[in-house]
Amino acid sequence: MDYCKNNSRKKIIIAIDGYSACGKSTFAKDISARIGYIFIDTGAMYRAVTLYAINHGMIKNGKVDEQTLIAALPDIKIAFKFNPDRGASDIYLNGHNVEKEIRGIEVSDAVSLVSQIGEVRSGLVRLQQQMGVDKGIVMDGRDIGTVVFPNAELKIFMTASEEVRVERRYKELLSKGENVSKKEIAENLRARDYADEHRAISPLRKADDAILLDNSDMTPADQMKWIMGILDKLTCM
Ligand code: C5P
Repeated sequence: MDYCKNNSRKKIIIAIDGYSACGKSTFAKDISARIGYIFIDTGAMYRAVTLYAINHGMIKNGKVDEQTLIAALPDIKIAFKFNPDRGASDIYLNGHNVEKEIRGIEVSDAVSLVSQIGEVRSGLVRLQQQMGVDKGIVMDGRDIGTVVFPNAELKIFMTASEEVRVERRYKELLSKGENVSKKEIAENLRARDYADEHRAISPLRKADDAILLDNSDMTPADQMKWIMGILDKLTCM
């Protein structure tokens, strides 16, 4: 249900960046459902490339065989298809739905190694920019407001306390039948945030014109109320 008075909204680009497990994708998905925008989870794209690398034996002892992966990039086809049961798009890797597989701890532990490779980033950024040509899109990731869409009309940078993030990810994984300890989750989040903030290419950082959102003490409903106040001013026609 959309609440603009005459029910019509301008199409803009909404860029959501921030730390791991802050609820970026859930927030982006809820916004897109509310205002009829497309939602793209770019983390899923880096995770899908990582899954491909794992399945093809390109990651061993915490090291990626970069040259082999770069040579294989033309063979990695990534697509999204809307899944009405989830109210969001599932990601497909070379025609297979890998939405569930990419969320496991094995991919989570390796994805920051893959996402620092320049050739991987430039290929995925190009795809992401094509997805946004008609605007009307909410995209979440680490470099959306800084690199993918530096001219996005609305940029949000999300954070939350580590305790809250671990608890949320723990519940999410548990509900999916993944048995991972809170300690493992905390270590993974810390390692990923560190790697994402310190990599040479497109590190995670808040764009100067992004609005900071710390949602540690906010419910999804609080967040939606907050963002709709901003969006109504920006997009109602
Ligand atoms: O969002 P999610 O936690 O699924 O992202 C997984 C990983 O993908 C991040 O930790 C980061 O290394 C990488 N990523 C990125 N740039 C993006 C989105 C995700 O480097 N735009």
